[in-house]
Amino acid sequence: MGRLAQTDGLTEIQRDILATVRDFVDKEIIPVATELEHKDEYPAAIVEGMKQLGLFGLTIPEEYGGLGESLLTYALVVEEIARGWMSVSGIVNTHFIVAHMINAHGTQEQKEYFLPRMAAGEIRGAFSMSEPGLGSDVSAISTKGVKDGDFYVLNGQKMWLTNGGTSTLVAVLCKTDEGASTPYRNMTTFLIEKTAGFGPNPTVPGLTVPGKIEKMGYKGVDTTELVLQDVRIPADRILGGVPGKGFYQMMDGVEVGRVNVAARGCGVARRAFELGISYAQQRSTFGKKIAEHQAIQFKLAEMATKVEAAHQMMVMAARKKDSGERNDLEAGMAKYLASEYCKEVVEDAFRIHGGYGFSKEYEIERLYREAPMLLIGEGTAEIQKMIVGRRLLEEYRISE
Ligand SMILES: Cc1cc2nc3c(=O)[nH]c(=O)nc-3n(C[C@H](O)[C@H](O)[C@H](O)COP(=O)(O)OP(=O)(O)OC[C@H]3O[C@@H](n4cnc5c(N)ncnc54)[C@H](O)[C@@H]3O)c2cc1C
Repeated sequence: MGRLAQTDGLTEIQRDILATVRDFVDKEIIPVATELEHKDEYPAAIVEGMKQLGLFGLTIPEEYGGLGESLLTYALVVEEIARGWMSVSGIVNTHFIVAHMINAHGTQEQKEYFLPRMAAGEIRGAFSMSEPGLGSDVSAISTKGVKDGDFYVLNGQKMWLTNGGTSTLVAVLCKTDEGASTPYRNMTTFLIEKTAGFGPNPTVPGLTVPGKIEKMGYKGVDTTELVLQDVRIPADRILGGVPGKGFYQMMDGVEVGRVNVAARGCGVARRAFELGISYAQQRSTFGKKIAEHQAIQFKLAEMATKVEAAHQMMVMAARKKDSGERNDLEAGMAKYLASEYCKEVVEDAFRIHGGYGFSKEYEIERLYREAPMLLIGEGTAEIQKMIVGRRLLEEYRISE
């Protein structure tokens, strides 16, 4: 596995889980990833394998049938999976976020109803905040939920749902009028159970998942819109049972999601480094292997330093959350650093490949199209810097 990106202080269970996942990635994901990605094909066999390994229930408490593992274990697993194929980590990520939100904020009935089947991978989660007109500015959402007796009637359009078609449970953020003076307290998360697939949903009248959005990378996993026309959802499917808390619940979900995106950046960067250092020892120019040219060695040194730094920061952010402390500063830093470094390491590995990096026969071509998604998902670099900057001013405020 190499010297880079080691994690000190893991338990035996964590080491066993990681060894199993690493083996699964090497045998079941890497050999098929590029071919499936080029065909934009859903990795059904890989998903089945992940279900067997219990990965969909990795962080769900044991009392609900999961493995009860920490955010750190989850992030390290994601790093390994993304090293194989980033899209596969996307399939578990939205599921993990929704399970986290239900476990942290759901009613007892919601936990008992959803979590055991989520742990088994029978229910698969997606989450939906973004709309065609907004992503960063969540306060501007316009999808509305209006109370009607024991139901809410939902209308609006959502955008960019990862696993929008394949999921069977979507946590949807809507505007509800709670009479609060700030938009943040007028938002509610609804748990909508649906049938997997595209088009008008057969089990939820008024709910439509139009086809997949065509993307430059991050293929295989489906990303969709979601249209809601007079969708009636029982009031007991409000996450936590009480309206007006949706924004904060979603932000909590996105915060753990940020550590996850950082982990993905670490995994993709590590794979790019492995490809670069391997290729550099095979290709010769001017009478020697290109790895012997100092310029290429410098590139490899910079790449390895970035792989290591991003990994350690991601681990630190995960451990902070696991300790129960607030980790928005560290999660923002980790997501920002890991995604920027990932883009740079991938670019350097691409350059090391020369013209062959541009060929679809080489894995680096896929990584080159995948890395940019990490700059955007779970909040752009600018949004991370806003979060980090605000927190720094809280921490280092001078008295006037
Ligand atoms: C493949 C993919 C999958 C996704 N999956 C999901 C999902 O599962 N669920 C979901 O809800 N969303 C999802 N998203 C949406 C994603 O979260 C948003 O795309 C992201 O938050 C950015 O929002 P936006 O695209 O509307 O960009 P905008 O918010 O319009 O931003 C455009 C540019 O302006 C910058 N900007 C915005 N505001 C400021 C500011 N105040 N100061 C400085 N710069 C600013 C941004 O950084 C960016 O560079 C996904 C997106 C992609 C591409």
